[in-house]
Amino acid sequence: MNTEIVDTLKREKRLDAAGYRSLLESRDPDTAAYLHETAKGVSVQRFGRGIYIRGLIEFTNICRNDCLYCGIRKSNRNIRRYMLADNEIIDRCSCGYGLGFRTFVLQGGELPDEKDDFIEEVCRLIHGRFPDCAITLSLGERREESYRRFFNAGATRYLLRHETHNPAHYAMLHPAGMSLENRLRCIARLKAIGYQTGTGIMAGSPYQTVDNIIEDIQYIQALRPQMIGIGPFIPHKDTPFGGLCYGTEYRNRTVGGPGPATREAEDMRLELTLKLISIFRLMFPDALIPATTALATVANDGREKGILSGANVVMPNLSPPWTRDSYSLYDDKASSGSESAEGLAELESRLARIGYHIDFSRGDYSENCI
Ligand code: SAH
Repeated sequence: MNTEIVDTLKREKRLDAAGYRSLLESRDPDTAAYLHETAKGVSVQRFGRGIYIRGLIEFTNICRNDCLYCGIRKSNRNIRRYMLADNEIIDRCSCGYGLGFRTFVLQGGELPDEKDDFIEEVCRLIHGRFPDCAITLSLGERREESYRRFFNAGATRYLLRHETHNPAHYAMLHPAGMSLENRLRCIARLKAIGYQTGTGIMAGSPYQTVDNIIEDIQYIQALRPQMIGIGPFIPHKDTPFGGLCYGTEYRNRTVGGPGPATREAEDMRLELTLKLISIFRLMFPDALIPATTALATVANDGREKGILSGANVVMPNLSPPWTRDSYSLYDDKASSGSESAEGLAELESRLARIGYHIDFSRGDYSENCI
């Protein structure tokens, strides 16, 4: 068991590329267990046993982009497109407020620029009605001026995963016309405007290599985002990657490529997600790191495993139930039970079973280095 590398990461909050590689490629279950245990300890020391909740409102699946992995890509003709009206969004916030949510995450496809007025107005309305709540946006790449307008209207957090920091890999996941350069520029702008900014990747995305992941870690190390979202890639049947399983190279073995998902590939994707959560927790004790819906989708106890690896946020679905099938980023996406806002009691009892509870406060990022 290699405890030393984990201890070094905890102490130094970084490793060199060889160090990250050895953690990512290690097949030793004891080293992984020690990594998770250490990361969990850092999380508990920093946040206690409270887990922040965010109400996720997927307010539109209309999207101008065509990301190859994503089920709401514009070429997918098999979903019904929808967009909630402002009063429907406010209704969901009221409902969430009653349940105890103090953060609302507005997520959606990339709307045309003309919808910026609408987005700004919705931020203003939510901020006016629920001044004690935080508004997080996750609306993709937009103009700098738009990010600024939303910020001035009351949004203070923004999630925009960079997806991969390698230009060649980026081009394999996105259509011509989208560029890594623009995505990174957007992330830098969000940070400069003053948003608490989140970024991240899918673990096991098609053609992803360990080298790519090391680059991602190094990018995040330099960026110092306030939030880090890591979830397993899950194929969606109506995308070009519908038949692919996961990343093509993990621990120097081919786990992806066309063909059915094998049990081994599934285990690796879960394992890789958990390792990354732990690595980021050790690098950034203060960061807000969710146990994502995708993680809860690939394993029944995925959320719990994420928390026990150092995650400290969950984002139950607060979208109107009629939209949930249409917001299908990937196949079989979880949106009921403890993944739903209505299921908070179930979430609470599942957390209690692993010794945690819901923290109902806003949970803004704050630096409190331990
Ligand atoms: N349009 C916005 C937000 C919606 S997508 C944006 O692009 O940021 C939110 C996240 O879902 C993406 O960043 C991506 O990492 C994740 N996602 C999309 N398709 C996925 C898939 N097939 N499997 C797992 N995660 C996926």
